[in-house]
Amino acid sequence: MTPLARILIRRIAVDGPMSIADYMAECLLHPDHGYYATRDPFGAAGDFTTAPEISQMFGEMLGLCLAQGWLDQGRPAPFALAEIGPGRGTLMADILRALRAVPGMGEAAEIHLVEASPVLRARQADTLAGQRPVWHERVEDLPDLPLFVVANEFFDALPIRQFERTADGWAERQVGLREGGLAPGLGPLTRYPALAARLGDTRPGDVVETCPALPAIAAAIGARIAARGGVALIVDYGGWHSLGDTFQALKAHEPVDPFAAPGEADLTAHVDFEALAAAFDAAGTDVTAMTPQGVFLERLGITARAEALARKLSGAALDAHVAAHRRLTHPEEMGQLFKVIASFPRGGPPPPGFDPLP
Ligand code: SAH
Repeated sequence: MTPLARILIRRIAVDGPMSIADYMAECLLHPDHGYYATRDPFGAAGDFTTAPEISQMFGEMLGLCLAQGWLDQGRPAPFALAEIGPGRGTLMADILRALRAVPGMGEAAEIHLVEASPVLRARQADTLAGQRPVWHERVEDLPDLPLFVVANEFFDALPIRQFERTADGWAERQVGLREGGLAPGLGPLTRYPALAARLGDTRPGDVVETCPALPAIAAAIGARIAARGGVALIVDYGGWHSLGDTFQALKAHEPVDPFAAPGEADLTAHVDFEALAAAFDAAGTDVTAMTPQGVFLERLGITARAEALARKLSGAALDAHVAAHRRLTHPEEMGQLFKVIASFPRGGPPPPGFDPLP
C-alpha cells in the first residue's frame, strides 16, 4: 500500500467517501506524496511521453502559430510568452527556437511558466537556463500584458467529477472503502442543476464528467486576451461534449487501476473542448474550431520541416525521426485523438492551422 493510500483511507474512515476530483487532486499534487509533486514522469523510463518529448517539430509548429498571431496583432511589445504545465520545459525551448526566425519577437517576450510541481520547476530551470523565466502558482497570477500562451496535456490533469445517470436521477461517483482498500462507489441521488441539460442526451447508466477548475482557468486566460490581446493554444486529448467514463491511470506506459497505487500513477481524463470554448467565449474572446492535432500540424508545415531535418539524418536517427513525424500526425496515433483549440481577440484574425468554424 502506498503512503498516500494510508492517508486517504484514514481520511475516508473519518469523513466518508470523497469525490473523484478530490481523490485526483490528492494523487497528483499532495505536497509529500503527489505524483507530480515528487517526480519527473516523462520519457521512455517514465510513465508517459508527450508530443514535445517526441519531436522538436511539435513546439516549432506551435511557435510559428503564435508568431503569426503576434504579427497579425501588430507585434505587441513587451508581451508575456507563457506556458501552463510546462513539464520538462522542452516545449517552451522549442517555441523559443522557432521564434528566432521572427525579427523582434524573442526580444519582446517575457517568459512566464505556471507550474505546481517543485521537481518540474527545477527541471524547467535547467532546460531554460539563460531565458530567465518567471514561475507562478496560478494562471490568475500571470502579468497584465498581451498573452501568448500554450498548454499541452495540462487540462487533462485537472481533477474531474463523475456523475452516473440512474433511473431516478444523478448520483456522483465517489472513492470509498471496501475490504480495507480504496474502491469506487456511487454516492446518494442528488439534484445537480448543471446536469439538467444532460437529461436530453444521456440514458440510465451513462456517465457525465465535469471539470470544476476548468472554467476559472480558461476565464483568466480569456480575460487577458480580451483586454490586452494575444493567443491561447490548448492541445490535449478529448472531444466535444463530455460523455462516458474517461478517468484513467498510466504507469510505465500501461493503463492501471486508478485506485490501486495513489500517488504513483498518472491520473487523467479527457478534456471537454466544448467547456473550454464556452469559457473563452464568456470571457470575451473568439474561439477557433476544435481541430485534430494531425491536420493542424500539417497545415502549419510540419512535413516540410520534417523533410528539412531529415536531410541531416541517416540510419537509426532517420528512422526515429520518420516515426516521430508519424506519431504526432497520423490519425491512428496522436493525430486524431489529440485536438487543438485557440482563443484570440474578438473579431480579429484567427491564428493559422485551424478548421473553419462550422
Ligand atoms: N506540457 C508538458 C507537460 C504535460 S504534464 C508536455 O507537454 O510535456 C502536466 C504538467 O502540468 C506538469 O508540468 C504538471 O506538473 C503540471 N500541472 C498539473 N496540475 C497542475 C496545476 N493544478 N497547476 C499547475 N501545474 C500543474
